[in-house]
Amino acid sequence: MVEAMALDPGLYIVATPIGNLGDITARAAAVLGGVAAVACEDTRVTGKLLHHLGIKQKLIRYDDHASEATRDHILGLAATSPIALVSDAGTPLISDPGYQLVVGARELGIAVTSIPGPSAAIVALTLAGLPSDRFLFAGFLPSKDKARREVLDELANVRATLVFYETAPRLAASLGAIGEVLPGRAVAVARELTKKFEECRSGTPEELIAHYAAHPPKGEIVLVIGPPGPVAINPADAEALLVAALQNLKPSQAAAEVARATGLDRKALYARALELK
Ligand code: SAM
Repeated sequence: MVEAMALDPGLYIVATPIGNLGDITARAAAVLGGVAAVACEDTRVTGKLLHHLGIKQKLIRYDDHASEATRDHILGLAATSPIALVSDAGTPLISDPGYQLVVGARELGIAVTSIPGPSAAIVALTLAGLPSDRFLFAGFLPSKDKARREVLDELANVRATLVFYETAPRLAASLGAIGEVLPGRAVAVARELTKKFEECRSGTPEELIAHYAAHPPKGEIVLVIGPPGPVAINPADAEALLVAALQNLKPSQAAAEVARATGLDRKALYARALELK
């Protein structure tokens, strides 16, 4: 049984587990027990979680396609009492409903508090063995092939690890498009995270296509794509980048930034940055 928490009025964005119910945080459980009502995507899904926690709550169905009247109703409640927002799994607003509600709450001066917890994108990034210092989360790839390739093409030069949500039926098509639009990239398929059959499989798109053709994937999937390799850059361009970086950064930081962007040796860039300073 969860100890309910005394809470001020406002909107509480509460992250919930992405598979393993043990991943609910103590604070999330206390907030869910202490609010006046819980706005949720699917009352059955959230009802199960609350039942597991031994919490009885008033549930209000909400998603970003909800009518303005529903949104206004929830915001009206949050102005005078604590109201939680949860999605079916993970962190609300991350490819899930909540954005419109948060915008509305902020416009009306209603306090918004976020109770952090699981999000599949972050769990996948921690498992993939791909650079985690810079990443770009881009939600779901489009389901249509042309639009999917356009999105990948648009992101091709981003010097960061790319993270996408994916579904099992579309995995092969997405890996095919990645192989063609982003050739040579390392990819990880993170599946069924926090659940019994969790796996994180790495390889080239071609290797992964072959594997999943033989072992059709089930369940929920996050695709993680490594950043592009170092670009070929001439010394004059590298120097210009270093000079520009030194306008705002210390030599060590400027060297690190240019090294990351170009793949050039950080120590050599640092020595040159000291000379230029
Ligand atoms: N808001 C959620 C979050 O913070 O993770 C994501 C919601 S989005 C509608 C659902 C997608 O998240 C799934 O299609 C899948 O790509 C990913 N996902 C959710 N749970 C997952 C899990 N246990 N393992 C792998 N991917 C998962």
